[in-house]
Amino acid sequence: MRETAFKGVNMKLEKITKKKQNGKRLSFKEIDFAVMGYTNGVFSDEQILPFIKAIFEKGMTDKEAYFLTKSMKNSGEVLDLKKLGVQGITADKHSTGGVADTTTLVLVPLLASLGVKMIKMSGGSLGHTGGTAEKIRSFEGLQNELDIEKAVEIVNKHNGVFLTQSEKVAPADKKIYSLRDRENLVSSIPLIASSIASKKLATGAEIIVLDVKWGDGALMTSKEDATKLANLLQKVFIMDGKKAFTFLSSMQAPLGEYVGNELEAYESVLILKNRLHNNLRKVSLYISSLILRLAYNLSKEEADKKVLEVLESKKALEAYKEIVKAQGGSLDLFREKQPYKIFAVKAQRSGFVFLRTKQIGEFCNKLTEQISQFKGIHILKKNNEKVKKGATLFEIFIRQDEKSKSLTEAKLSKIQKAFEKCVLVKEEETLVDETLICELKS
Ligand code: URA
Repeated sequence: MRETAFKGVNMKLEKITKKKQNGKRLSFKEIDFAVMGYTNGVFSDEQILPFIKAIFEKGMTDKEAYFLTKSMKNSGEVLDLKKLGVQGITADKHSTGGVADTTTLVLVPLLASLGVKMIKMSGGSLGHTGGTAEKIRSFEGLQNELDIEKAVEIVNKHNGVFLTQSEKVAPADKKIYSLRDRENLVSSIPLIASSIASKKLATGAEIIVLDVKWGDGALMTSKEDATKLANLLQKVFIMDGKKAFTFLSSMQAPLGEYVGNELEAYESVLILKNRLHNNLRKVSLYISSLILRLAYNLSKEEADKKVLEVLESKKALEAYKEIVKAQGGSLDLFREKQPYKIFAVKAQRSGFVFLRTKQIGEFCNKLTEQISQFKGIHILKKNNEKVKKGATLFEIFIRQDEKSKSLTEAKLSKIQKAFEKCVLVKEEETLVDETLICELKS
């Protein structure tokens, strides 16, 4: 009898999958049947895979993408921040990811010091992209696997808290995402949109800002595809009765100048000390100002001014110290760190620089996994900057400790050579779209 019941559900999944494979539209009930069956362990990875592949290959209408979002959102807890006791205006942001995108670490303190609350759930690193969850843990002792009660306590006191993505929020996305990652089924616009929107809609913030990246280091390499994703995200949020504010930003080059979890955390401190004026600072200020505008109904000029004021007065730095301390870490640790040994990667010829962003991200992630003393790189040149042969392009940071003694000269020289391939020095300038931020046409 039980076997017959199992056969029945498996046949139903096959029928739904066939329908999608034939290019037909699916109903909410059909999508939810597949999603919930997989989340609850009724269907194995092998059984659900043809369904996900069919979506990847045939695409989805906007409505189907919304149905998928709704099903994944409702697969776990849907937080009601007010009911949980969070007082005041709440905001959240999501980036589709890239290399040296450390905006979260900069903007949570900026907004905290302006009274906007963020319970910021972030995932780990994926493929060539960095993971905010790991970056923030570079502040030794910091705990970001907190239960929601503790997170609410911290956010009510300090206006910000950094968390890992909760297992209880959108568990269907967690399972489907890791299957897509393993099976190379990530780059599908409806699958990405529903994955992002389900998590954000389940975390309950009032204001949601979505930063869709495009370029070599992004999931969407073309601006056209990134625009399609951004538009679909907007529609899915509206269909769920919420509004998200979506914009595009460039991932043609790494956003910050440091790559590597510890160095990126360090860079966020430098920005909040008002010592760096790079693209990471620009995008962080842009998002903070956008959220502030929405929170308090301000003009762009008013919001920009307020954000700059808390940065320059170091109020945001103070807020950062407090949040990190409340989570068990300390910003001061960076001062006491054992020194790094720095190895230069030099230009092998004179010419114009072109950074291979995705390759930089992939190689840094690979080395981080393999060599614990490898802490990342500092990128000293920009795209199309003119350099002379022998100029330093990157600095490689190796932590000095007992273990680093076992890193032989030969191994270090191999790493230097591999980094030489992450940047091209060309005879001619490369045509690159210099736009950093693009707002969507409404
Ligand atoms: N980020 C997500 O959260 N989901 C995706 O599918 C891709 C990027």
